[in-house]
Amino acid sequence: MLGDNLKRQGYRLVAFGEETDLLVLNTCSVTENAEKDCRYAVRKTLRHSPHAFVAVTGCYAQTGAAQLQSVPGIDLIVGTQFKMNLPDYLPPPSKLRKQPEPELRHSRTIDREDFILPGTAYSDSTRALLKIQDGCDFMCSFCLIPFARGRERSRTLDDVLREARDFAAHGYRELVLTGVNIGQYSYKGASLVDLLRELEAITGVTRIRISSIEPTTVPPALLELMAASTKLCHYLHLPLQSGDDGILQAMNRRYGVREYDKLVERAFALMPDLGLGTDLMVGFPGEDECAFANTVQTAARLPFSYFHVFSYSSRPGTAAARFANQVPIPVIRQRSKTLAELSRSKTLAFYQSQIGHTLPVLFEQGERNGFRTGTTANFTRVAVAADTVSAGAIHPVTITGIMDGLAYGHPVAAVLPPSHRTLL
Ligand code: SF4
Repeated sequence: MLGDNLKRQGYRLVAFGEETDLLVLNTCSVTENAEKDCRYAVRKTLRHSPHAFVAVTGCYAQTGAAQLQSVPGIDLIVGTQFKMNLPDYLPPPSKLRKQPEPELRHSRTIDREDFILPGTAYSDSTRALLKIQDGCDFMCSFCLIPFARGRERSRTLDDVLREARDFAAHGYRELVLTGVNIGQYSYKGASLVDLLRELEAITGVTRIRISSIEPTTVPPALLELMAASTKLCHYLHLPLQSGDDGILQAMNRRYGVREYDKLVERAFALMPDLGLGTDLMVGFPGEDECAFANTVQTAARLPFSYFHVFSYSSRPGTAAARFANQVPIPVIRQRSKTLAELSRSKTLAFYQSQIGHTLPVLFEQGERNGFRTGTTANFTRVAVAADTVSAGAIHPVTITGIMDGLAYGHPVAAVLPPSHRTLL
């Protein structure tokens, strides 16, 4: 969307590394190396385009504005809330000039106002990302996001529906709802469940997927709607972070392992075909052998189809940065490896459980080695011979095996069970 806004201002987009008059860096503050990465990108660009105007935006522009001001070559710093307005702060392409020092815009406060996002963020993908929410009030002790993205706020209902209709009209088959803490969606009394009902009613919206959602923000009504819906994907990504209650408490997470178990149990009772993913963090301060063993045991026991494993790194300004008992880096690396291996075996087992089933698959653009890939509603990644299906189509596929970490199958003209029919 930022690229579209720049094009409207008369700019032409080129790939990173090509000669340019303008470098826009969209930074992240989640990684430890934000400042280093930024310095590297600026240096590299100014080497081949010494006249290039450098604008920096995103989360690190919000949390690390002071550090960024000392990076040579930066001309403009725009805090993350006003990222989409960045083109308004730039002169027309012919008037771009390097500045003696960076201008700082909106790097301090983020207000709580509900928001709209003008325009539609088209992409080359067959799935459209529909942002519904931003910011977070949960204050997990390891997380910088509440500082970088500010307090919780929701996109107005009308604006979400307007963009969803645009996506449907442009042929996108799947809407992926995104935000920092989407379960906290709330606009003039409308909750996430209300929003989902409105989205379901849009003609042309075929599939709706909820991206990562905090476990404590999943009400029974959401699970029931998901189970009954012909459009909502049977898929949940519920960040667990740790399988140890002591660590969860120190992380300031709002649940214990038992509550998480119960939520998973409820979800699978309603949707036995659910695809369940999670995030796990290793090396949080105080994570001893016993706490890590609890995480491994919980991760192995619960019916996850995959997990994303994150290594803890101390982020200045967070509560956890002041905690004692930091875990040595080699131990963190080893724990990360252990969980990544476990995740691979869980994915394999999940895919194996799909063999013999016929499932609708949304196929993506592009093919590799004669295969086209796509995803089922429960997020099984499926490969088929590329010449048997076209990109953007939702086609029923009988899963016959596993190949290179993907489920493999044959497209069929099968009659699917009623619950799958409208996904076609
Ligand atoms: S809920 Fe997520 S975004 Fe919010 S503070 Fe916790 S980890 Fe960060």
